[in-house]
Amino acid sequence: MLDALSSTTLWDICIIGGGATGLGIAVDAASRGYKTLLLEKYDFAKGTSSRSTKLVHGGVRYLQQGNIKLVMEALKERGLLKKNAPHIVKNQSFVIPNYKWWEHPFYGIGLKVYDWMAGSLGLGPSRFLSKEETLELTPTLDPEGLKGGVLYHDGQFDDARLAIHLAMTAADHGATLINYCSVTNLLKADGQIEGVLAEDTIHKKFYEIKAKAVINATGVFTDQILKMDDATAESIISPSQGIHLVFDKAFLPSDTAIMIPKTDDGRVLFAVPWHNRIIVGTTDTPVSNASEEPKALEQEIDFVMHHITRYLTKDPTKKDILSQFAGLRPLVKGNAKSTAALARDHHISISDSELISITGGKWTTYRRMAEDVLEIAAHKAGLPEVECKTRQLPVHGYKETPDYEAPLYYYGTDAANILSLVNADKSLSELIHPRLNFTKAEIVWAVQQEMCMTIEDALSRRTRALLLDAKAAMEAAPIVGNILAKEMKKDDDWIKKQVDAFNSVAKNYLPVL
Ligand SMILES: Cc1cc2nc3c(=O)[nH]c(=O)nc-3n(C[C@H](O)[C@H](O)[C@H](O)COP(=O)(O)OP(=O)(O)OC[C@H]3O[C@@H](n4cnc5c(N)ncnc54)[C@H](O)[C@@H]3O)c2cc1C
Repeated sequence: MLDALSSTTLWDICIIGGGATGLGIAVDAASRGYKTLLLEKYDFAKGTSSRSTKLVHGGVRYLQQGNIKLVMEALKERGLLKKNAPHIVKNQSFVIPNYKWWEHPFYGIGLKVYDWMAGSLGLGPSRFLSKEETLELTPTLDPEGLKGGVLYHDGQFDDARLAIHLAMTAADHGATLINYCSVTNLLKADGQIEGVLAEDTIHKKFYEIKAKAVINATGVFTDQILKMDDATAESIISPSQGIHLVFDKAFLPSDTAIMIPKTDDGRVLFAVPWHNRIIVGTTDTPVSNASEEPKALEQEIDFVMHHITRYLTKDPTKKDILSQFAGLRPLVKGNAKSTAALARDHHISISDSELISITGGKWTTYRRMAEDVLEIAAHKAGLPEVECKTRQLPVHGYKETPDYEAPLYYYGTDAANILSLVNADKSLSELIHPRLNFTKAEIVWAVQQEMCMTIEDALSRRTRALLLDAKAAMEAAPIVGNILAKEMKKDDDWIKKQVDAFNSVAKNYLPVL
């Protein structure tokens, strides 16, 4: 990738930011045949895109808010993503428990509308549940006062895994993608953007990169790039933090998720099975500064604990939190009174110097966002008109009928390659930690094929160890460091620095008791 960066004199499209938005654009641009470069400051999906609720959804909440256009678009994208990446996106059933008499018809009818809106791309019909059926599907739900429930379907995925597979899809189609490469300035000629100045932060080397179109896809950092273009540019992003708490599966020993339709601040709360744990969230807390490592606030943790203990018979305590993680929504400022009411639609802007910025949206709609922004970018840059191909483009690893019970199912066709590493060296079948269901082979694969550069990349985004059990991940860090060092020919001093760097990030994922 670095060789391609050095040898290419002019790119068609240069994308700043390697989250869902930027990676989606890279896939679209490369599959149209454009010479495509993506630069990511840290690691792919280091930002918001690895910190979501892991739902590929139309958004029942947006239906409640009456945002029909957003729900229709997201439901269509949900269906396309399930078709193009069936190895990463699963059909997930949800129960909405009803404790008041009116909730049964209210949510039941609402979800019939949701089914109808999904049309032929639906994942299964919603249906009314009796109290007994509700408890059969979600046995630890508080039975006191329970009247019944409504069952519905949405998609569920591993966000960072999809990000890595999108990076690989783009690369399969000829794109160049570089992590740990930060855009530090924009290059201009006659007031028009003609490229970017970027630093490869691992090798401490700067590159002057020329491109016909530059797209700013930096999520909550959008304003930083806008201000490189025009120091007086107004800030457009209003970051809103959401946190999740992760618990042992024993608190909800079921394959069915729970959706709590109305929290005290009028949001929804999810408890979703994920990688054999339960993830519970989220919150909506306006924050003034965007950080690459946002931290869960005490009041947010209390809020989630308060709601989840209200609905479960087996009450988790803070001691039961295996991991807590926070993410920032890149919401575009509006006139709304709170960030919860800000639009989740995407937003595209073009500056006088023709810097194109895209922000907002959802993971679910990344493909559509990419299609929309590329139509504009290709036209502005005078690139040959090529039709978008991503509606039917399989994502790297595509497997038509994945076995969701198989331990490596989310690698799709790459699972066979990981197993061949184990066949060549049996020691690679060992787990990196007794409480983490990830093998040493996955770490070797991550370094060899997935541009994994650090212990944090390996434990947070190539495997999801840090989000599933922060303490176990910290205990596994030296083992993972050794594997990385062997593959990358690094010394003991490098391992020590890597373990220290990982621990300083990982400690924020541990509960404060
Ligand atoms: C708590 C929470 C839960 C969510 N749950 C869901 C969900 O269940 N389903 C769903 O569909 N959506 C969900 N979302 C929304 C979704 O996660 C986001 O819309 C999406 O991840 C945003 O992606 P992005 O690429 O725009 O931003 P990011 O993922 O933040 O990517 C931007 C990237 O730009 C990089 N960058 C910044 N500056 C530079 C620079 N100078 N040079 C190079 N790179 C740079 C950053 O390092 C970062 O990786 C959720 C969001 C939050 C916060």
